[in-house]
Amino acid sequence: MHDYWLLRQYPNEIYKGIQLVCGCIKFDKVVLATKDISGLEFPGDIDIVEVPGFYPIGAERILIENTLKIKLPHDVIPANAGILVLNVQTLLSVYEAVYLNRKADSKYITVANLNKKQARVLKVKLGSKISEIANAVYPGEGPIFTGGGLMAARRIDDNEEVIRTTNFIAISQFPYYKESVLCSKCAICVRKCPSGLEVYKIAELVDNNNLDAVSKYNIKKCISCGTCSYYCLAGRNLSYKMKIAKEYR
Ligand code: SF4
Ligand code: SF4
Repeated sequence: MHDYWLLRQYPNEIYKGIQLVCGCIKFDKVVLATKDISGLEFPGDIDIVEVPGFYPIGAERILIENTLKIKLPHDVIPANAGILVLNVQTLLSVYEAVYLNRKADSKYITVANLNKKQARVLKVKLGSKISEIANAVYPGEGPIFTGGGLMAARRIDDNEEVIRTTNFIAISQFPYYKESVLCSKCAICVRKCPSGLEVYKIAELVDNNNLDAVSKYNIKKCISCGTCSYYCLAGRNLSYKMKIAKEYR
């Protein structure tokens, strides 16, 4: 929710942040990609593009593909292809650093109570305790989750703090989750994987502890989005298996 909110709350400051970056690096064009363009007004030198609302549209390569129609090979870093992807919050921080001499020692996050379908945007200091923020906003409402991406949410550790990659704090009931060991080979995980990975085959190798054989499946393309786990009809924790495969050397 906070990126949507920032774009409407601080458009002039974000635009000045864009100008500052463009003063350092010469770009052919600047594109503002967002899922909802309603009510947005930016000067004409910015192309505003409405991107589809699927997850994980915010992943760098997927955003580039949907916005610029450029499919980058997985081993090419976007900046090396002349494409810089910045979040609106980063642009706001650039503005605040240069114009207001402010340190980037805090960040905007979304704090949501999923039990009551309520949410708000907060600016919090890096290093703040997540449990204290959650209890201050929605006291005693249940288990607390956090994460960088929507489907990579996890329950917080007791003393966990806000770090640069913290995007949200969510209060919710613990989801019912029953993992099956059986795979029907329906291949939904393959069809839904935004990186085009043969997910169930890799998961099978991990289950069989045959990690040497994973190397032929390009596991580095996995962006840890969690989509495969979400769609698996057998409730298999596929993204965890992908993590094991990725970390294996
Ligand atoms: S979605 Fe689940 S059940 Fe279907 S092939 Fe993938 S791992 Fe197997
Ligand atoms: S987490 Fe799953 S769906 Fe997402 S990129 Fe990795 S293998 Fe594909």
